[in-house]
Amino acid sequence: MKSLRVHEHGGTEKIVIDEIPEPAPKANEAVVKIAATSVNHLDIWVRGGMRNISLPLPMVLGSDGAGIVAEVGSDITDLRVGDRVLISPGTSCGRCEECLSGHDNLCREYKILGEHCDGTDAELVAARRDNIVKLPDGMSFNDAAASSLVFITAYQMLVEKAKVQPLEEVLVMGASSGVGTAAIQIAKLHNARVIAVAGSPEKLEKAKALGADEVINYSTEKISDGVRRLTGKRGVDVVFEHTGQATWSDSILSANRGGRIVTCGATTGP
Ligand SMILES: [Zn+2]
Repeated sequence: MKSLRVHEHGGTEKIVIDEIPEPAPKANEAVVKIAATSVNHLDIWVRGGMRNISLPLPMVLGSDGAGIVAEVGSDITDLRVGDRVLISPGTSCGRCEECLSGHDNLCREYKILGEHCDGTDAELVAARRDNIVKLPDGMSFNDAAASSLVFITAYQMLVEKAKVQPLEEVLVMGASSGVGTAAIQIAKLHNARVIAVAGSPEKLEKAKALGADEVINYSTEKISDGVRRLTGKRGVDVVFEHTGQATWSDSILSANRGGRIVTCGATTGP
């Protein structure tokens, strides 16, 4: 079967279409025939290589996948061939204290598909049962594949770490990105007031369409000035960071007293 792999780090020319063996499911796995995958910033980091981080190569890229169950392992009783499913990107041991308390992302064996082990950019992918989620009727493969990594990341940041509360004000940096679009929707579901930051009118319109209450165009206004203007100089309760160097000082200036800044990366640099 075909897969997208990198054998060495570098530019997009390092992505090759490789013929690799079809996977056979272990007892607690199902094989999914992939209909849609995603491109996350993580794919760029994995392809390009990350400082002080050694990744196993060659690696199949891709963290998200949606498709149809093609084969079911012998221990699985609640999935059938033909089921429409999503593959969740995080795997863990399932036995340690962190896993059993619901903090599987803190497991010492936690891995993300397409970063620490082979990912989803392949015709067939074997995944453990606890990484497979049945899709509701009406949810497209494209929507499903675009959602999992960014939504679990944004949920972890806003709900688990920042513990966002109703009526709090949340500043979402990089609002047009994957995690940014997820953060807007999660914050609104928690009845927070969202101020979205992006660099063009088109991106800000998209943020509003997703539920943002206010927007700041960083191309025409310093972000922290916009926050002061929109919050009566008070600052926001939660800053949703992931851009790093380009926004970090504005994030600090934008948080109110006792405010929380949560981050998951630094796409513009450390
Ligand atoms: Zn564990």
